[in-house]
Amino acid sequence: MEQIILTKRPQGAPTLENFEFRKTNIPEPSHKEVLVETHYVSVDPYMRGRMEDTKSYVEPFKLNEVLNGGVVGKVIESNSDLFNEGDFVIGHLGWQEYSVAKENELRKVDENIAPLSSYLGVLGMPGLTAYFGMREIGKPQKGETVLVSGAAGAVGMIAGQIAKLQGAKVIGIAGSDKKIDYLINKAGFDHAINYKTTKDINQSLLELCPEGIDVYFDNVGGPISEAVYPLLNTFARIPQCGAISSYNKQEDDIGPRIHTYLIKSRVLIQGFIVGDYAPKFQEASQELGRMLQDGQLIYEETVTDGFKKIPEAFLGLFKGENLGKQLIRVKR
Ligand code: NDP
Repeated sequence: MEQIILTKRPQGAPTLENFEFRKTNIPEPSHKEVLVETHYVSVDPYMRGRMEDTKSYVEPFKLNEVLNGGVVGKVIESNSDLFNEGDFVIGHLGWQEYSVAKENELRKVDENIAPLSSYLGVLGMPGLTAYFGMREIGKPQKGETVLVSGAAGAVGMIAGQIAKLQGAKVIGIAGSDKKIDYLINKAGFDHAINYKTTKDINQSLLELCPEGIDVYFDNVGGPISEAVYPLLNTFARIPQCGAISSYNKQEDDIGPRIHTYLIKSRVLIQGFIVGDYAPKFQEASQELGRMLQDGQLIYEETVTDGFKKIPEAFLGLFKGENLGKQLIRVKR
């Protein structure tokens, strides 16, 4: 079987040179372990941080070892009473075609309830991130104005729809006309702007929301955020979800020049990690499932076929190649 190894830590933007494919034998499960055949692999922006050898909320990837992340797969051999052959499971597993996992590292997923891929997207980590960031920090009220950056990605498109369901006016910022079209005509955003073709983001936002912005769900940071801060209303909230514009920077950003805006408008800015809300995960994914079933929520996935494409798909996140959740289908 094949696996993907981190061979070099990136300097700036990662490239295919940072990865290597290796062949090895399929491992054998011991007592209370199962052998999982990889079906879907998730690639996520936070993995860029794990490629650095620095302290963070998740361990860095180790050099010359298999990379890992969210995987949905099928149990093909079981030495556990909890799992049968044929069960579909989700877990944090290696970028490899087969993995051995301990029974307590996996959770069953049911393709009769939702498509297998959705457990890595709207019903999984990104969906939960959107849910908690918006509901617990953003807390949009009916009639308020909510702005989402990185709006056409896995987290952003769900965050915006959740705000819409709360009765807010919702504006998205994203990087292509196709994404803008999706946000307005499919996901029900009130407006959206393409930050790559808009000359003055601050001015465009001012025209779209003369009433100001009450919640800024920020996935990107950097110059986009700098354009947004002057438009924040008194007591605005910023769930600081991500800062993808800086992940490939080799030097720390000086940070947007925002302090006077924060003080004048008494803005609450709160960084968060979805794992902070782990005790409420089950309740929230049920709620997201209900919204999907009721047709209140839609989602999109960009599914790339083939194990060999995992590194490329990961790199694509930093070029905006994905609409919605980026996944790799390893096995049908
Ligand atoms: P996305 O599906 O949104 O994919 C990344 C997107 O970011 C790209 O498609 C691209 O879209 C956009 N992007 C890339 N580079 C830039 C840039 N320089 N400036 C602006 N936009 C850029 O990923 P996720 O939904 O999984 O994650 C979104 C954010 O949320 C990330 O910052 C991530 O780190 C964070 N996150 C945080 C979590 C938490 O617990 N706090 C959990 C999960 C994610 P475009 O075409 O619009 O440029």
